[in-house]
Amino acid sequence: MRVLIVEDEPRLGRQLSAALAEAGYAVDCASDGERAEFLGQTESYDAVVLDLGLPKVDGLTVLRRWREHGLATPVLILTARGSWHEKVQGIDSGADDYVSKPFQMEEVLARLRALIRRAHRQPAPLLRCGDITLDPRSAAVTLRGAPVKLTSHEFRVLAYLMHHAGRVVPQGELTEHIYAHDAGRDSNTVEVFIARLRRKLGAGAITTVRGLGYRIGGHA
Ligand code: CA
Repeated sequence: MRVLIVEDEPRLGRQLSAALAEAGYAVDCASDGERAEFLGQTESYDAVVLDLGLPKVDGLTVLRRWREHGLATPVLILTARGSWHEKVQGIDSGADDYVSKPFQMEEVLARLRALIRRAHRQPAPLLRCGDITLDPRSAAVTLRGAPVKLTSHEFRVLAYLMHHAGRVVPQGELTEHIYAHDAGRDSNTVEVFIARLRRKLGAGAITTVRGLGYRIGGHA
C-alpha cells in the first residue's frame, strides 16, 4: 500500500514518513499544496495524510479540487487543535477523517488503517485469505498460524493483493502501489516478488491470470 503525506513542517513530515514506512507503506511526501495536488492527480495512493495550512495552495482547496476531479482516495486531514470549524470544513470538503495537532503517531496510523479498511469494505482489522493472515497493525503475516518473514516489498505486494482479494490485479497497478515516486521502478521486479511470495506461502497462494495479472483468494 502507498500513502501520500502532505506536510510543510519538515520535522513533522519526516516523523510521519518514518512511521508510515516503518508500518510497511510506500511513502511519498509533498511540502506544499501545488505539489500535493499534482501528485494526488498523477500517482496512485491508497490513502493521503493532508495538513490544511500549506504554502502555495491551502489543504482545503487541494482537497476540494481532488474531489471535483473524482479522486476517491481516503483522506485524513491534520487540523489545528481546538479548531472545530476546520474539522467541519474539512469533512464537508471531502475528508474522510481528521486528527488534531499535536497528535500521537499511533492515532494517525490507526485512523489510516481504518480508512483503508473502510475503502475496501473490510470490517475486520485482520485480513485472512485461506491459510494466510496479514495484520496491518503489526505488519505481521502468518501461514497456518506460523509467522512468515517478508521483505518490505514482498509485504506491500501481499498487502495490496489481500486488500483486493478475489480480484485480478494488473501488474502495472501492483507496481504503482508498492513503490514510492522517487523509487526506481521496474515492473519485472513484481514477478520476482510474486515468485518469492509463492516460495514462502505456497505455490498456490497467488494465481497468475495470464495477460491480466495476479489474484489472491476468490475462485480457484
Ligand atoms: Ca502546516
